[in-house]
Amino acid sequence: LFSGRVEFLKSAPALEFLPDPTVPEIAFAGRSNVGKSSLINAFTGRRAIARTSVTPGRTQELNFFEIGDPTLFRLVDMPGYGYAKAPKDVVKKWRFLINDYLRGRTVLKRTLVLIDSRHGIKPVDHEILEMLDEAAVSYAIVLTKGDKVKASDLAKVQDKTAEAIRKRPAAYPEIFTTSSEKHLGIDDLRQFVLSSIES
Ligand code: GDP
Repeated sequence: LFSGRVEFLKSAPALEFLPDPTVPEIAFAGRSNVGKSSLINAFTGRRAIARTSVTPGRTQELNFFEIGDPTLFRLVDMPGYGYAKAPKDVVKKWRFLINDYLRGRTVLKRTLVLIDSRHGIKPVDHEILEMLDEAAVSYAIVLTKGDKVKASDLAKVQDKTAEAIRKRPAAYPEIFTTSSEKHLGIDDLRQFVLSSIES
């Protein structure tokens, strides 16, 4: 599957541009620089799909990729958040777009919330978790850049993340640890996504 069809479908700057909800969707969310493009590339087995298809102008849009032939699911690359220099109206636009999408999208099976292994869940990540809980969208946490952290620190951040997540209303979300660079945890994530689209 992941060596098969992976194709950029479209960008949606607002709800009226969303593709018809005909197949399951899996969304990837995270703050800017968390390693989202790298993870999408590793996940899809494409060197640069997230980068080549997504020009800078598209960064505040939802980007849809189709996986499989016939399409098994769509991967949705959400715009990154928490960029320190983002103007207020950009932040506001992000909030409206994400909220609208999360609340109205019945085909959305899971959102993967990416968290940097070096930092763990930060205040900047709370808004998306809040939105997911309010929209009752199932999510999983994906710790990124695991190769940058030594094993003992990785265990600590995994524990802290589990603890932070336990305090939230969602049914206990899974936590994955990945490295796009070293291709660690990617197959587990693929398995999880495949089982999620069937549920
Ligand atoms: P995005 O802004 O969330 O799309 O983040 P990118 O995928 O562009 O990654 C941000 C930076 O982190 C880049 O310099 C990447 O090379 C680096 N990076 C991403 N994933 C990994 C990883 O798994 N390991 C390491 N060591 N660096 C990574």
